Amino acid sequence: MIMQGKKGIIMGLANRFSIAYGISESLKNNGASLLFTTQTEYFKNKISDIAGELGSSNIVLCDVSQDGEIERAFDEIHQECGDIDFIVHSIAFADKNELTGKYCNTTRANFLNAMNISCYSFTEVCRCAAQKLMAKNGGSILALTYYGSEKVVQNYNVMAIAKSALETSVMYIANDLGDLGIRVNAVSAGPIKTLAASGVGNFSRIMEIDRNRSPLRKNITQRDIGDACTFLLSDMASGITGEIVHVDCGCSTIGVKFDT
Ligand code: NAP
Repeated sequence: MIMQGKKGIIMGLANRFSIAYGISESLKNNGASLLFTTQTEYFKNKISDIAGELGSSNIVLCDVSQDGEIERAFDEIHQECGDIDFIVHSIAFADKNELTGKYCNTTRANFLNAMNISCYSFTEVCRCAAQKLMAKNGGSILALTYYGSEKVVQNYNVMAIAKSALETSVMYIANDLGDLGIRVNAVSAGPIKTLAASGVGNFSRIMEIDRNRSPLRKNITQRDIGDACTFLLSDMASGITGEIVHVDCGCSTIGVKFDT
């Protein structure tokens, strides 16, 4: 129960397959109280049963692509719940049509949209948290990233560029907010079948290749990711900030490997 007495915000729960679901389950099992943000009224209705099972009836609207929305949502949360101990940013978006073929064909509009939702929103989440929700007691903030930021993963395209920028943001923001006692990290998760991932061209093949390369000879599970995130959000990780932690069954450590 390493999260007993802690409360936090989960941003990016779409359904039971979401990485945010695995993280939420682990956090709840370790004693945390949760509240959720979601993009629209439609998604709010869609996730209300799941949020209820995770012990929360509190779902706040927040479309992170819109100016002022994160600040407004965090104000609402602060008024209702007071200070917050942790935030999980589990949000990304890019046009499905551009998650296949050559990266260099990406349009300006898709580049800016992917960067806005998948990277800039994290910066704004951290800034607003520091000003409102974590100003007094500090806290811990986590983003989700993927190995495509480090090496070419075919079809990951513009999302890879956004993840590289996100990972660099993690380091810079960790330095910016360290004096407030706020830790900022990212988990680089192995591939896992979710709604967002299904938009990446030939995703099943990416999972298969990963499974075969991985030292643990398996794909990562929601639980693997969830428990690692809980550790990073807890006081057990009090000395860890600015880090990108791979939770990928070891895949990112492999250079050349013969078939076994
Ligand atoms: P997911 O279940 O589809 O979650 C993506 C979430 O992003 C959804 O809840 C979606 O909300 C939200 N979102 C998109 N645009 C938004 C906006 N403008 N405002 C607010 N929320 C918005 O997929 P997932 O795979 O779990 O993705 C979660 C995170 O993990 C992402 O950062 C992803 O890049 C990362 N990741 C995924 C994998 C993988 O293989 N699946 C691996 C490594 C990292 P709506 O449902 O309301 O649209």
